[in-house]
Amino acid sequence: MSQQVRGVIARGKGEAVEVATIVVPDPGPGEAVVKVQACGVCHTDLHYREGGINDEFPFLLGHEAAGVVESVGAGVTEVAPGDFVILNWRAVCGQCRACRRGRPQYCFATHNAKQKMTLLDGTELSPALGIGAFAEKTLVAAGQCTKVDPAASPAAAGLLGCGVMAGLGAAINTGGVSRGDSVAVIGCGGVGNAAVLGARLAGAAKIIAVDLDRRKLDRASGLGATHVVDASGGVDVVEAVRALTDGHGADVVIEAVGRPETYKQAFYARDLAGTVVLVGVPTPEMTLELPLLDVFGRGGALKSSWYGDCLPSRDFPMLIDLYLQGRLDLDAFVTETIALDEVEQAFARMQGGDVLRSVVVF
Ligand SMILES: [Zn+2]
Ligand SMILES: [Zn+2]
Repeated sequence: MSQQVRGVIARGKGEAVEVATIVVPDPGPGEAVVKVQACGVCHTDLHYREGGINDEFPFLLGHEAAGVVESVGAGVTEVAPGDFVILNWRAVCGQCRACRRGRPQYCFATHNAKQKMTLLDGTELSPALGIGAFAEKTLVAAGQCTKVDPAASPAAAGLLGCGVMAGLGAAINTGGVSRGDSVAVIGCGGVGNAAVLGARLAGAAKIIAVDLDRRKLDRASGLGATHVVDASGGVDVVEAVRALTDGHGADVVIEAVGRPETYKQAFYARDLAGTVVLVGVPTPEMTLELPLLDVFGRGGALKSSWYGDCLPSRDFPMLIDLYLQGRLDLDAFVTETIALDEVEQAFARMQGGDVLRSVVVF
């Protein structure tokens, strides 16, 4: 029997989102239905609403979620009803060339549920990032469910499913930050601030947070930034980072904005043989011009981070354990909890930089 639940729908480009009744089918082979307990509001949801990702309206928004597995389809062994899970948007296939070479965090053939959730009139919904968790229940591929310790708060745990994982992983997995490193983070929204937290967790000795917004820098200080650079008012970011690193630049610079000008800052604010990690998402029209001699002469690594290069089955349970031990302050990212019908207002607060994360709690 399919079920009818409430979910947040984006019907058309730029239109305000609305709560509608959606139909969730019973899980088929390899699928699971999850009772959502909490789901964070992410820029990507807004991006879907604005038509910036694709035109497959209507979308069922929401993708940073935790909840309890309600039912599973045939052949599902990774999770069972009653399990507390974080939803991920990169369920690995186990068979593509990346998976076969033992690098499933780069899986090139990740998958979602095969069946579609619909509106009451049968219109098929496109779930954001294959999840669609601004809904009381959602249908996903079983591999999108990662079981973690149920002692964790659902609001905090769900954030690991997207932006916070992207930032933590940009520092720890992609950037390979290690003890004693100097790290600069350019752009301190949810992802950048998670990168600050990740750098601290990895033992960085110096963590420099760069942003134009004083409120974001204050949050970065609270999460472990040792220095802040307020880039408003024409401050030279490269010079400021060099001045804080004995004139050399940082070992790892994390670019969490996704723009050519901030990428160039990251490139030149990095020490020789250092690493730049791009985790901010650019738009299609952006291009980058750099002197090739500088790319060669400065050495090191220029990397991009997909979802923090995370492997959910490896990283989510470990990070939740650190959270429960008081070593990873995920609660700091939950600025406010809201109801399902308050997502549109939360978009406005997010755009205004007022919140790190608003989280819908059911
Ligand atoms: Zn694969
Ligand atoms: Zn997200």
